[in-house]
Order: sequence, then C-alpha cells, then structure tokens
Amino acid sequence: MIEETLFSKIIRKEMPSDMVYQDELVTAFRDINPQLPTHILIIPNRHIPTIDDMTDADEAAMGRMLSAARKIARSEGIHEQGYRLIINCGKHGRQEVPHVHMHLIGGQDVGPMLSRNG
Ligand code: 5GP
Repeated sequence: MIEETLFSKIIRKEMPSDMVYQDELVTAFRDINPQLPTHILIIPNRHIPTIDDMTDADEAAMGRMLSAARKIARSEGIHEQGYRLIINCGKHGRQEVPHVHMHLIGGQDVGPMLSRNG
C-alpha cells in the first residue's frame, strides 16, 4: 500500500483547503501556490499515485475530473475565454505530489504550452 499524501487529508477535511467542489468521486481545491489568477487542483478521492497507476476501475473518476473541470471553469467565469488542464506524471513529468491531480489554470492567457526555461 503506497502511503497517502496530504491530498487525502484535504479530501477528508482533516487538513484545511479552499475547496471549490466535491462529490463521491473527486475533490477540487485552490492550489496553495497559484501560478495564474485561477489555479485549481482536481483530484480523484481514491489515492492513485500517478496517471500511470490508474486502472479501468478508475475511468469513472477520470471522466468526472473532466466534468468537474468544466463546471468549475463556469463557476470561476473563465469558460468563455478558455483555460488549460494539465496532469503531470512521474519524474520527467515533474509531478511533485504522488496523488493524481489535474491543474485547471486560467483567468488570463496561460502562455505557450511548453517552456524550456528552468
Ligand atoms: P505537481 O507539480 O505535482 O503537478 O503539482 C503539485 C501542486 O500541488 C503544486 O502546484 C503545489 O503548489 C500544490 N500543493 C502542494 N501542497 C499543497 C497543499 O498543501 N495545499 C494545496 N492547496 N496545494 C498544494
């Protein structure tokens, strides 16, 4: 059993967060270090370390992450201008927290897709 992260504590509300959405499959909360005016993390409630660890049984949660992103973008008022969804995976993907999370970023032009700086 791979150890859970602080994201599991956020899901269970044992750790404070600025939560914007939760249902039986996924939870969304504002990133503690926002890179853009809107920066929200959408995560499955089940602890799946990386996208590479997901199984067929997780398809419903993965689909729900996208549906939640759409709804949250609307409630944030950024859906008309657009936004970006990002999932980092593993070492080369520079994933920092080993609990699958999708970044929803927007509120201004997010810039080019990839930067080689840093
Ligand atoms: P990654 O690089 O793994 O794709 O992104 C991890 C994200 O989690 C980072 O953007 C980081 O700011 C965010 N993060 C790390 N710890 C916490 C926390 O305790 N609370 C919240 N809300 N976000 C966190």
